[in-house]
Amino acid sequence: MDWSSFHRLIDIYDYLTYLENTYPQIVKLIKIGWSYEGRPLYVVRISSASSPDTNPAIWIDGEIHAREWISSALATYIIHQLVEVDGNAGLWSNVDWYIMPMMNPDGYQFTHTKNRLWRKSRSISGKFCRGVDLNRNFGYKWGGLGAGRIPCSETFRGPAAFSEPETAAVSEFIQSKSTKIKVFLTLHSYGQLILLPWGYSYPAVYPPDYDELLALAKNAASKFARFKYSVGNTVELLYTASGNSADWAKSIGIKYTYCVELGNIGTYGFVLPPSLILPICEDFFPALKVFADKAATTTN
Ligand SMILES: [Zn+2]
Repeated sequence: MDWSSFHRLIDIYDYLTYLENTYPQIVKLIKIGWSYEGRPLYVVRISSASSPDTNPAIWIDGEIHAREWISSALATYIIHQLVEVDGNAGLWSNVDWYIMPMMNPDGYQFTHTKNRLWRKSRSISGKFCRGVDLNRNFGYKWGGLGAGRIPCSETFRGPAAFSEPETAAVSEFIQSKSTKIKVFLTLHSYGQLILLPWGYSYPAVYPPDYDELLALAKNAASKFARFKYSVGNTVELLYTASGNSADWAKSIGIKYTYCVELGNIGTYGFVLPPSLILPICEDFFPALKVFADKAATTTN
């Protein structure tokens, strides 16, 4: 595995298996379900052997949108840094990490074989079009603003909340850990933004602890040296997106929930040159200590 090119799904899954086999004390590959086309859905747990599942935890996912390749590249980079770089062991000594690099493997495969700019899943959702926007399919304020009603829409919400095997599996898993997970980061591209709830309403509405979420995000963003990120409410900085995963995570009681739009700002859009993978990953990683420290000390 390296971060000088974008990799195919099989190579990413092989790398995760390699890590589990090589570092069984700290890495566990958890199969949480199957995609629409029958590909396994994996969550990587990184935890100190003494106390798996008892520590506070951080959730990170990538590739809910198929064309946003940098999101899965960063997720695997984070796994690599945590597991294979000795100096980072302190980050998982009292915090468990649940990292899902590939939430939409069918869509990811399709972007490599047929259409580089495919966004949605690959389920058969209508007569003429395929795919559900998995980031409009979560079950909080599902079907409201910023979510398409017809299957051909790029933001099609699906026929019902959690209608898709990917969102059903992820939500069930996260729900089972919801008292442990204190920080939730869902990775997207592009825009250099850290987005806070809520994303379903226009004009924007805010959770009661919004200022605490904002302070943590600003602290994290201050660690980025090369790419400057803006921090704020989803609707104010971007647009409405009802049924998105971060809103749902917040709604079930996970305190610090964010949607991160990675670099860059728009020169390359979704089709990032591989030469920028490592700079974006290296720039992002130091911010994780801010989130890990907060997860370790959050009690509610
Ligand atoms: Zn996205």
